[in-house]
Amino acid sequence: MVKLIGYLIEIIFPKKCAVCGKIITDGALCESCLAKIRFIKDKPDNSPDIAAFEYDSVSSKLIYGFKFRGKRYIADVLSEYMAQRLRECFGDRQFSCITYVPMSGISERRRGFNQSELLAYKLSQKLGIPCEDMLKKVRKNKTQHTLSADERRKNVHGVYAVKDKEKCRGKSILLVDDVFTTGSTVRACRDELLNAGAVYTASLCAAKAIDYEHRRYEA
Ligand SMILES: [Zn+2]
Repeated sequence: MVKLIGYLIEIIFPKKCAVCGKIITDGALCESCLAKIRFIKDKPDNSPDIAAFEYDSVSSKLIYGFKFRGKRYIADVLSEYMAQRLRECFGDRQFSCITYVPMSGISERRRGFNQSELLAYKLSQKLGIPCEDMLKKVRKNKTQHTLSADERRKNVHGVYAVKDKEKCRGKSILLVDDVFTTGSTVRACRDELLNAGAVYTASLCAAKAIDYEHRRYEA
């Protein structure tokens, strides 16, 4: 019901640029805000963790609109940027499936959706790769965005687990999340997938915080 109301609101009210509020007809950003998004173009040095654009004062508003205001059309735009980045970095690599960073049941009910799951689902449709629900949270932890890099590493220890090891065995898995900050969360999840028998894992996020310790934004 909450989801249905969300969709109706999006139809009745016109789309506004997620950053500056200007009315737009397509996408999630007006032209001038889109021009300010810093897309990551460099090739990662064999890093399995990639992101589409830098997390900064402009893009954090886009992520905020998606994550906390439930503007689902932003997921279409974000997943398109992510799909492009995946093609640039991984070319023809074949992933067996896509999965996502899970939320605790309480957090998900409160928000109405898991933003990473929605991005993974959209990517799955775009790329023609199945989206699988593979991970779960087994321990409650603090929200990552208030913590330092060192605290984040400790905070995710033992938090994630694989739901069904049989589903991981021999698979090449792409893990999806919204924001990459220090990488603690995606690394903890990838480790669980590898321990459960996955042969390869990589992560794809919409945004990546560069120089995290010096720049923090609200999102
Ligand atoms: Zn704008």
